[in-house]
Amino acid sequence: MGRKFFVGGNWKCNGTIDEVKKIVSTLNEAEVPSQDVVEVVVSPPFVFLPLAKSSLKPDYQVAAQNCWVKKGGAYTGEISAEMLVNLGVPWVILGHSERRALLNESNEFVGEKVAYALSLGLKVIACIGETLEQRESGSTIAVVSEQTKAIADKVSNWDNVVLAYEPVWAIGTGKVATPAQAQEVHAELRKWLEQNVGAEVAATTRIIYGGSVNGGNCKELAGQPDIDGFLVGGASLKPEFIDIIKSAT
Ligand code: PGA
Repeated sequence: MGRKFFVGGNWKCNGTIDEVKKIVSTLNEAEVPSQDVVEVVVSPPFVFLPLAKSSLKPDYQVAAQNCWVKKGGAYTGEISAEMLVNLGVPWVILGHSERRALLNESNEFVGEKVAYALSLGLKVIACIGETLEQRESGSTIAVVSEQTKAIADKVSNWDNVVLAYEPVWAIGTGKVATPAQAQEVHAELRKWLEQNVGAEVAATTRIIYGGSVNGGNCKELAGQPDIDGFLVGGASLKPEFIDIIKSAT
């Protein structure tokens, strides 16, 4: 029943061909724990997915950073889940707070996206998290529960879902949640899953933490019982990403 440690690298809107090649060679040259111990998934921008996928060694998988909410068609500028399947991209990140905030993606829209991507066989890293204002007003658990509910309302099989708790105030700010703060929310989320989805899903679904994870703070966070891995932004572009992968052991 053990939950395999999961480390995602979210490259966001960064990189050139040369930079992608450099990150790929750093990853390929690194000695990382086996795939039995840690699942590593890196997420380049769409345009670099084929390059990353074809040049990374098989220890690593790739994820898209988004996809369209339903079947492709007349949606200029969008990338469909069908296209990701066609390219052999196994994972997609959905509901990242930058998209929720900057592109007005609502809880319901994210829930629909998750369900559609899963229906095509994609695996989903579904992101949730509260803003600083919400944390300070004491509504963290209510906010993340609501975001999780919008996904649970549309999804019946959680086998291919990884839930990423990413407090907005910790993303890209260098202000990481303390291990106790993160553990508290992860434990509440697991309880929410148990009460609203089922004990099996609660016990097996990986809940990963994101927000200013780096080579220095990963070990202590990884030691928390309900933290099953990380979604890493800034540090995933740097060699310290290897140290974060190694925190699985
Ligand atoms: P960060 O980003 O590690 O740069 O804070 C995390 C994320 O947005 O997934």
